[in-house]
Amino acid sequence: MLDFVQLEADLDQEERLIRDTAREFVEEHVKPDIGEHFEEGTFPTELISEMGELGFYAPNLEGYGSPNVSETAYGLLMQELEAGDSGLRSMASVQGALVMYPIHAYGSEAQKEEWLPKLGQGEAVGCFGLTEPEHGSNPSGMETYAEADGDGYVINGSKTWITNSPISDVAIVWARDRSAEDNPVRGFLVETDRDGVSTNKITEKLSLRASITGEIGLNDVHVPEENVLPGVTGMKGPLSCLTQARYGIAWGAIGAARDAFEEARQYAQDREQFGGPIGRFQLQQRKLAEMATQITLAQLLAYRLAELKERGDMQPQHVSMAKRNNVRMARDQTRVAREMLGGNGITTDYSPMRHMANMETVYTYEGTHDIHTLVLGEALTGIKAYQ
Ligand code: FAD
Repeated sequence: MLDFVQLEADLDQEERLIRDTAREFVEEHVKPDIGEHFEEGTFPTELISEMGELGFYAPNLEGYGSPNVSETAYGLLMQELEAGDSGLRSMASVQGALVMYPIHAYGSEAQKEEWLPKLGQGEAVGCFGLTEPEHGSNPSGMETYAEADGDGYVINGSKTWITNSPISDVAIVWARDRSAEDNPVRGFLVETDRDGVSTNKITEKLSLRASITGEIGLNDVHVPEENVLPGVTGMKGPLSCLTQARYGIAWGAIGAARDAFEEARQYAQDREQFGGPIGRFQLQQRKLAEMATQITLAQLLAYRLAELKERGDMQPQHVSMAKRNNVRMARDQTRVAREMLGGNGITTDYSPMRHMANMETVYTYEGTHDIHTLVLGEALTGIKAYQ
């Protein structure tokens, strides 16, 4: 596997173990039929609990069954999962960074004890409901609201583009609390079997096909007071979760690019035209050289981000730069890999075009490329350009 400047030489034993476990899992359980899942528009749901047993959901958290591994180990895990498919890494990102993280950071003791062990084990599935039909890049405009009704809240509204909502047991729903002054955003744990909850599947996707995406309809849904996340109010709640998930994406996208690169490198050696392997042509070698360089630069940024996160110095704008750069890199380089495979490159028999299609989603979700550009613009000038 491409590790051109030997970054992995500095990994400790635990980091190597996690990398190898995830790599082996992807080779044995994901790669054989992920192309078929992509074509069918299905997720290999039988892997959900297996991933839990292997500790793939939020192993960087501490307590409640999570081992508190290093941020590098967590990043490597995301990289290996996304080398399988972005759908797989999305499963781990949502469950870990967008559902377990807010419960861990902002939940009550009872919420933590109830949900963290079973989400960690993959015995329950969670989803994160922030985006609405009319509010994507600007989630603070959300129209979903909760109103106190004595012993709890009644929630109304709709969320869309929600990864895993149709197969979730619980949704973290972000809604405005109309009973409080200034209607602050709050997080609500909404079990999906409550009256008034619907989770229709979105079926028309041409990207991230091996991942279940849906809506969350909330029609007079009653939740008790103990389902409110007590530790946070305001947009800091959802945004801090997104910072965690984007960290994983900055690593994960490298995995998709690396897998496409390895397929192209192998193909260049195996495929013969004009009396020998296409890898002997300078044009093909140039493509491989550029891909390897871009992947290596993205890896350097990811490793540095891990160091900053580990010592508590990682800022959201650092994550914006890494998510923005590494996903764009993967989007560009998976296309080059696809082109090196000629006609075979457009099939699901090989990974590059599947990764390339997936990157359209990864480029768009968790803050579009444009929005991260504006976050960086603000960090660099002090002037906010997106309001
Ligand atoms: P819009 O915000 O309408 O943007 C449209 C275009 O306008 C984009 O190119 C954007 O960059 C550009 N634009 C917007 N504002 C500006 C500006 N100020 N300046 C310049 N350009 C701008 N959401 C969740 O809450 N939970 C999930 O689990 C989840 N999973 C997803 C899974 C998939 C497969 C997809 C596709 C999306 C998912 N999302 C999820 C939603 C995702 O986060 C949004 O799609 C994303 O934030 C963009 O919002 P939008 O689609 O409404 O696009």
